[in-house]
Amino acid sequence: MTLPKMNRVLLKLSGEVLMGDQQFGIDPAFVLELAKEVKAAKETGLEICLVIGGGNIFRGMAGAAQGMDRAQADYMGMLATVMNALAMQSALEQLGVQTRVQSAVQMDQVCEPVIRRRAERHLEKGRIVIFAAGVGAPYFTTDSGAALRAAEMNCDALLKGTSVDGVYDSDPKSNPSATRYETVSYGKVLADNLKVMDASAVALCRDNDIPIVVFSIREKGNLARVLSGEGVQTVVTDHTA
Ligand code: UDP
Repeated sequence: MTLPKMNRVLLKLSGEVLMGDQQFGIDPAFVLELAKEVKAAKETGLEICLVIGGGNIFRGMAGAAQGMDRAQADYMGMLATVMNALAMQSALEQLGVQTRVQSAVQMDQVCEPVIRRRAERHLEKGRIVIFAAGVGAPYFTTDSGAALRAAEMNCDALLKGTSVDGVYDSDPKSNPSATRYETVSYGKVLADNLKVMDASAVALCRDNDIPIVVFSIREKGNLARVLSGEGVQTVVTDHTA
């Protein structure tokens, strides 16, 4: 499907892609490669808001499964997203791209708080705004944070860069005959519990008519291909044309 003309996008990267080939944490060389992709996308004239997950460092659910208090574990997860945001900021600025980090958990010495009108100004000035700490509350994920920022920043699409190249009817890792959707409706994603983003994030995008473009960010040059309409991806939308 042809994507609508996009002027401003929200790019969501899973924390796990920052690991590169490691099992945990941040691989600065790989973060730099990702930053190059983001820079190339920016150079096409797009305004970019960035949200990065924290799964490469800590996930609240994993902590809770090992007996931790869920909310406490979620706050640790949010702090992990701030570390990732700072790593990406550093990589982008190494490449000469101006950025600002805004965190939903206030951290004055480290970054700005989330202030929408200030974020608007940063974008106008050509900066990339990296939104950290998700929605700033436990029991949510950075997917919800991405959907929320995409809505409040009036983004034309939410691009979800992850390790798989789209949305499948079953798990492609365990089922070799799984098929990828070119487009799929929000309703089907929710009804069939397809693993795209958590339900609250999908619902927020549906209610605000924000298309979700799921693609693999691990392949070099793929973000640019997706933006030019030549990439492999799945678009979650209620518009079929
Ligand atoms: N988190 C949270 N509220 C938010 C965003 C994130 O509690 O609004 C916590 C949650 O524990 C989550 C962790 O931060 O597991 C890391 O984020 P996420 O799992 O979304 O990262 P990703 O899977 O994208 O790497």
